[in-house]
Parts: sequence; structure tokens; C-alpha cells
Amino acid sequence: MRYDVAIVGTGPAGLSAALNLKIHNKNIIWFGSKELSMKVERSERISNYPGASSISGPELNEAFSRQIEEAGLEITDRMVTSIMPMGKGFMLLGGSDVYEADRVLLATGTVQAKELPGEAELLGRGVSYCATCDGALYKGKRIAVICGAKRYEHEVEFLSELADTVYLFAQYSDCDIELPNVERLSSPITEIRGKDKSEGGSGEAASVSIGIAGPSGGVSSVITHDGKEIDVDGVFILRTAVAPTSLLKTLELDGTHIAVDRNMQTSVPGVYAAGDCTGRPYQIAKAAGEGNIAAHAIIESLKME
Ligand SMILES: Cc1cc2nc3c(=O)[nH]c(=O)nc-3n(C[C@H](O)[C@H](O)[C@H](O)COP(=O)(O)OP(=O)(O)OC[C@H]3O[C@@H](n4cnc5c(N)ncnc54)[C@H](O)[C@@H]3O)c2cc1C
Repeated sequence: MRYDVAIVGTGPAGLSAALNLKIHNKNIIWFGSKELSMKVERSERISNYPGASSISGPELNEAFSRQIEEAGLEITDRMVTSIMPMGKGFMLLGGSDVYEADRVLLATGTVQAKELPGEAELLGRGVSYCATCDGALYKGKRIAVICGAKRYEHEVEFLSELADTVYLFAQYSDCDIELPNVERLSSPITEIRGKDKSEGGSGEAASVSIGIAGPSGGVSSVITHDGKEIDVDGVFILRTAVAPTSLLKTLELDGTHIAVDRNMQTSVPGVYAAGDCTGRPYQIAKAAGEGNIAAHAIIESLKME
């Protein structure tokens, strides 16, 4: 099925856009998490959002959930890991599934974690953001997993069923994973190293699922903060957000943010962006406002076809 619009992100920017597109009868697919926005959830007290004199983050998220239900909106609980222009539209990879849409709205928030040295260079050649898509390539192999949130623990469990050994670094405090072939690292992974293609390895195979064919070899090891080097064939990074240019290589940035015009149109025709991902101030009202502008610009652009 081809959609009019794919929205990536379930924070206030994505929600505002989804509501407006739905009112205008657009056929949308909305990717993100049923938990909506962790940033909103973590806000102790919000006193600057119009109409809610003082509300806690969890209360606002709850109000968002009610509105989503009342509007009949559906969230597709998938992390989008790649967006590729295709003819007049776009192909999006969410989990192991491929989706098509005429327009894309990025409402992904900011990426809190910085990319690791080696991550961008080895993406698709041993570095993966998607356990379901690439896990099978690591059957019987040694892998490292950086798990950014509790909600990805089932993906770590899935990987442990395939891999021989999993070196797990959990970036949160209440990790419950205790499995015979999973070794928990207490020191964070600070670098991913690669090898030359002549040395062989799994990198080329890993590239197949996200369509990036690299000229040289894949991952060889990871380095931890305490100076250890651990030999691995692949690294899975399970984060709540990925850098915009990892999603769509040709996006122009303004510093670390996605560059947009006043209609929230990015440098890639047909791709819009809204919310924290377009820059400061990082505020709920700004995110909702930009989601609204983007939705209306998209509706206008669809009329032109
Ligand atoms: C502790 C704290 C307190 C705050 N207090 C206030 C306040 O009082 N007032 C105020 O106005 N603002 C406050 N903020 C800021 C506010 O929460 C943000 O500005 C706002 O949430 C931004 O909305 P957004 O939709 O742009 O992004 P986010 O809320 O970050 O939502 C982005 C969503 O997109 C999802 N996502 C990202 N990448 C992908 C992908 N590739 N595939 C699928 N889903 C993806 C993420 O998981 C997330 O759910 C606070 C923030 C924090 C952290």
C-alpha cells in the first residue's frame, strides 16, 4: 500500500501533523512509539503550553493518547532506519518492512547520543540499527549491542537467539537481561573499528538489507571506555532516534539540525521536518506549531499533483 504521507516520530510535532492530515482525509502511516515522547514524559511540570495552566509531562502524554484514540489515529510501532527517494515518492524501512509514501515528515526530535567513531562509516557494513532486519546475518557470530532503552530488550533477546555471543552495553539502569550467551559490559563502547575487505567478514552481507554497498570490509571490533578491544562481527545500535543524515543521506543540515524553509520543507523535495529536529527552542508549543505548518504545506503540495 502506498500512503500520501509517512510521519516519522510520535512527539508533539508528529501528533500535531497527524491530527491535521487526518482531518484533511490524507492516508497516513505514522511511525514511532506508543509511549509517544519520552521527553514529554520526563517533564516534571509544563507551565508554558497554551490551554494547560500547569500540567505534568505524563499528564500531557496521557491527554495526547486520548486525543489519538478519539481521532482514530494509529501508530505503527517501528523505528524507521532508512528513507530512500524512489520516483516521485519515498521508500521507508521500518523494522524489516518496506513502506511507500508520496511525502515524508520527519518529526524525530533531537538525537541525544552522538554517533560513535566508526558508526557512520560502517553503517550497513556490520553496523545496524535494526535487529529484525539484519539479525539473521549474524547467526553463530559475535556481536556487540548498544541498547538505548528498555523497550528494545526484546530485540536483544532475539539477537541472543541467533548470535553465538552478545556483548551488551545497556544505556539505562534497570536492564533485566540475564542470558547465558549475553555478556554485560559495564564500560560504554566508545569506538567501532573495521577491517579491509581483503580480510573478509560479514560487512558486505549486512549491507544488503539497507541497500548500502560499501567498498571496503566490515566491523572487526569495538573499543570500550576502559580501553578493552573486543573482536566482533557486527554492532547493533538500538536507539530511540537516529541522526537525520543516517535516515536520508542527502538531507542538508543547519549545524546539527535539519535545514528547513518557512513551510518546513527540507532540501529534499517532498520531505518536511518539524519540532526539535529543526532547531531551538526545544519547546512543545514550537513542535506542535511546526507540525501544523508542515501538515498544511504537505496538503497544498499534494493538491498540485
Ligand atoms: C526534562 C525535560 C523537560 C522539558 N520541559 C519542557 C517544558 O516545560 N515546556 C516545553 O515547551 N518543552 C519542554 N521540554 C522540551 C519538549 O519536551 C520538546 O521540545 C518536545 O518534546 C519536542 O517534540 P518533538 O515532537 O519535536 O520531539 P520528541 O518529543 O523528542 O518526539 C520525537 C519522537 O520521535 C521518535 N523517533 C525518533 N526517530 C524515530 C525513527 N527513526 N523512527 C520512529 N520514531 C522515531 C522518538 O522515539 C520520539 O518518540 C522538556 C524536555 C525535557 C527533556
